Amino acid sequence: NQWLGLLGGGQLGRMFCMAAQRLGYKVLVLDPATNSPAGSVADGQVLADYLDDAGLAELAQRCVGVTTEFENVPALAMETLAASIPVSPSAFSVGVAQNRIEEKSYISGCGVPVAPHAPIRQAEDITAALETLLPGILKTARLGYDGKGQVRVKTLDDVKAAFDNLNQVECVLEKRLTLLKEVSVIVARDHQGECVTFPVAENHHRKGILATTIVPARIDDVMAAQARASAISIARALDYVGVLCVEFFVVEGMGLVVNEIAPRPHNSGHYSIDACVTCQFEQQARILAGLPLGDTRQHSPSVMVNLLGDLWFDAQGNEREPNWPGVLAMPEVKLHLYGKEQARVGRKMGHITVVAATLDRALEVAEAVRSLLGIGDDDD
Ligand code: ATP
Ligand code: MG
Ligand code: MG
Repeated sequence: NQWLGLLGGGQLGRMFCMAAQRLGYKVLVLDPATNSPAGSVADGQVLADYLDDAGLAELAQRCVGVTTEFENVPALAMETLAASIPVSPSAFSVGVAQNRIEEKSYISGCGVPVAPHAPIRQAEDITAALETLLPGILKTARLGYDGKGQVRVKTLDDVKAAFDNLNQVECVLEKRLTLLKEVSVIVARDHQGECVTFPVAENHHRKGILATTIVPARIDDVMAAQARASAISIARALDYVGVLCVEFFVVEGMGLVVNEIAPRPHNSGHYSIDACVTCQFEQQARILAGLPLGDTRQHSPSVMVNLLGDLWFDAQGNEREPNWPGVLAMPEVKLHLYGKEQARVGRKMGHITVVAATLDRALEVAEAVRSLLGIGDDDD
């Protein structure tokens, strides 16, 4: 049995392990945490810091290739590994995705539009010329996720205050666009440059966190084809190897605009586990193992609902178990829990995928799931 290596122990890694194991591979996970979601289902664990030389050496020695499951994996760890075994995606691709400024210039470089923006590296960069970007959103260039590290700004004084509040770390000011919709495309590209995309997903958020993904997205076929083609252009330009998510805004008068990319499987692609012939995690395993890409065809319309830690607490703040028997009694519902030991508000604990004969039916069942579990409405 061949071993595949994984940097990171989160839920994306857990679902990667399960997909790789179905194909007969063993997975070795490197993560500092004991009982991590991926570590607890993996065939082997290296309990070490991502930059620990001995840990990385063990991964390199035992595995045929290494992949990653979190966005902010240290580029140095990937470079160290790449000196002795295949690593996908490359440290370069991950590096581009880790910095919003580089990310945007790379994407517009391949002819795909991004939101109007300007880098803010020091207080002197905040000048009257930025007025055209207001009202805007000031985002830290690095390390933000789930809407963290973002401040909405209306005036230049707001920008100055927000920049100070973010301790003057490197930021990007983006024009706030009026979004008609948010969609995403998962693209998988192998070592030979073969490339496939998954159907376009429509995403809805609550408090800055992905809440619901509806697939196929309710956009016209021309726009869907364009989103898939743009995702392929970006993957090609990066010479990307692995699974990549491209998030888009649909903007009145502008059409599709790329928001950001994630160099890994993505929450908005979880529907593929239950609704597609091959899921995003299996593609990641296939690519790493040098196997052909799988069929991305969606066999059932689907709605994915995220299960956040909020559900584990009642109105008084006491911990409780959500009504899983009730959920599992519903037809067309697949429940995925990530085995996290401690629930926290806003923490991703699992998801539900509704797979139905029609999208209308899937939406109806998702609504029933939400009301059974007490999940509030999406913000958008
Ligand atoms: P993720 O968890 O997806 O990685 P993130 O913290 O990296 O999130 P973004 O995806 O950049 O943050 O932004 C979060 C959400 O904020 C977007 O999905 C969108 O709803 C809204 N948003 C971000 N940028 C803009 C913009 N320029 N105009 C309008 N809305 C925006
Ligand atoms: Mg992000
Ligand atoms: Mg995002």
